[in-house]
Amino acid sequence: MIPFFRLMENEILLIHDYHLDELRKLAISSLPNESCAILLGKKTETKNIVKYIVPLNNSAQSSIAFIIDSDDLFTIYKKAKLMNLDVISIFHSHPSNPFPSETDKIYMHLNPVIWIIYSTYSNYFKSFVLDSFNDFREIKIELIKD
Ligand SMILES: [Zn+2]
Repeated sequence: MIPFFRLMENEILLIHDYHLDELRKLAISSLPNESCAILLGKKTETKNIVKYIVPLNNSAQSSIAFIIDSDDLFTIYKKAKLMNLDVISIFHSHPSNPFPSETDKIYMHLNPVIWIIYSTYSNYFKSFVLDSFNDFREIKIELIKD
């Protein structure tokens, strides 16, 4: 298998404030468990523009892990296609700091989209892509102003 890594160094994630609020609320209402969501949007070479958030059930019901049902995932890909959008990011929350865990890194490799992590501990969003098997790179989050 040829590993897929994100190569664009100047990639950014563009998101509306109200979408960040929606993710924050999802994370807080899911406590003590981790929450998860999929973000649909448009992707250009360097810009990932969030258009729509699909909140999901964490079927692991855990404070240290999240699992997205394959049925949910299938529905989301169908929805994205109907809306003419791409799956551009996977969101989940951590009760600890917002950095990918070893398990996250494995799944980041399998799902090479942008991974947004919100810390319910420090109230901070961070986003990452996997740069190599063991290294992640932070992607800048910019607010859409309009
Ligand atoms: Zn995680």
